[in-house]
Amino acid sequence: MLLCPGMIKTRFAPSPTGELHIGGVRSALFVYLFAKSKGGDFLLRIDDTDRERYVEGSVERIIESLNWLGIVPDNLDNLVVQSERKELYHKYAKQLLDQGDAYICTCSKEQLEKDKEEQVANKLPPMYSGRCRESNIRLEDVKEGEYVIRMKMPKGEIIKFHDLIRGDIEFDSSLIDDQVLIKSDGFPTYHLATVIDDHLMEISHIIRAEEWLSSTPKHLVLFRMLGWEAPEIAHLSQVLNKDKKKLSKRDGAASVIEYKKLGFLPEALRNFIVLLGWHPKDETEVFETMDSIIGAFEFERIQKAGAVFDMDKLNWFNRHYIANVLSLEELTERAREFVPSEWSLTQEIMASVRSRLDKLSDLKEMISFFFELPEYAADDLYWKETKTAKENLEAVLEKISALPESGFSKTAIEEINGIVPSDKKGEWLWPLRVALSGKRVSPSPFEIIAGLSKEETLRRIRLGIEKL
Ligand code: GLU
Repeated sequence: MLLCPGMIKTRFAPSPTGELHIGGVRSALFVYLFAKSKGGDFLLRIDDTDRERYVEGSVERIIESLNWLGIVPDNLDNLVVQSERKELYHKYAKQLLDQGDAYICTCSKEQLEKDKEEQVANKLPPMYSGRCRESNIRLEDVKEGEYVIRMKMPKGEIIKFHDLIRGDIEFDSSLIDDQVLIKSDGFPTYHLATVIDDHLMEISHIIRAEEWLSSTPKHLVLFRMLGWEAPEIAHLSQVLNKDKKKLSKRDGAASVIEYKKLGFLPEALRNFIVLLGWHPKDETEVFETMDSIIGAFEFERIQKAGAVFDMDKLNWFNRHYIANVLSLEELTERAREFVPSEWSLTQEIMASVRSRLDKLSDLKEMISFFFELPEYAADDLYWKETKTAKENLEAVLEKISALPESGFSKTAIEEINGIVPSDKKGEWLWPLRVALSGKRVSPSPFEIIAGLSKEETLRRIRLGIEKL
């Protein structure tokens, strides 16, 4: 199968062993951006040959996470799922056996353990001893479940390749194990399956996390043994915490789904993630759309050093998108799922809090007073040492109670503004705000009136007066 010249095809190949975390989705985003910035295809593949680590439902959640962030794979109708392709991998394993590039190994687990202990005791790197390498065991001689197939790693060869991020890299093949290709459960290992699929899917560029760097020489040898040209390869640096250590749960290594549930906006999270180890030519930091990211993306600007995850920065992006980027209408729609369905969340209510909202999951607490006036003490109605709360509330009530229902909040706000002396704002607006919200900290009384009905506004002011 010949690659169409110039056609860029990348893949993101997660193992469905749980949720998609920040590190994984960052790889996905860079892989996606590489393809899209060059007019290529971005494919998803499910690397699920490790059946012991398989977690039910994680494929669906990985796809949901990608879609939510706008990292949409091009082949979802034709998704490559490795566990469904067992026969294909056996065909190529057989070819490698026939060519003498692989061999059958019947060493027991106990034997392998013992070999390893001896090597460690002798201060040698733990590797397969090579016991079965020249024994010529044939498939006809072994029973299912009692053997593995290993690749015959050439000895004494320097394997070189050019990593698109890290530059020229060399490995000494003598230090590389005879990797298992087919396991005793009949499933291929990641190494065999990835090489076969990267070839059959016509992947032009493999871009993956740094942790796979040491696997690359094995893959390159496999490509060669199978007579295939290897794709271009790049390894992305790790995401680190502020202490430059591996990112942990404590540092914000939550899954994408967790961030979604917390009320982070996908645009904000995506904007934050793309700057983890990449920056554009100019100083731009805010990329509101995926198209604007694609337009600015240059793969060459991905940094070789680890990228530091800064939770404060993520919070800043989220606040910025909530306060300034999304339209009020859009924000209100998205926020609905974060408040009880019986609350009628309006744009006016949203407008009163958006500039102070870190994440949508904080919304419920912040706006609950619109729907249920909390208990509060009469003393709360007094502005500092002043005692004029009652008469001021009465004056406001008198001024606005006869206003027509339609357009009430707008006219009420004008009327109130008309009677509040400019040097006594605190004495008038503080009691009004507390009466309307039941809280010492809340949006301004005008923002609250905008979010309440006429009837409820008047009821709350009356209640405040009764307390005094
Ligand atoms: N299945 C591997 C993973 O979970 C894919 C590595 C690769 O991209 O080759 O990361």
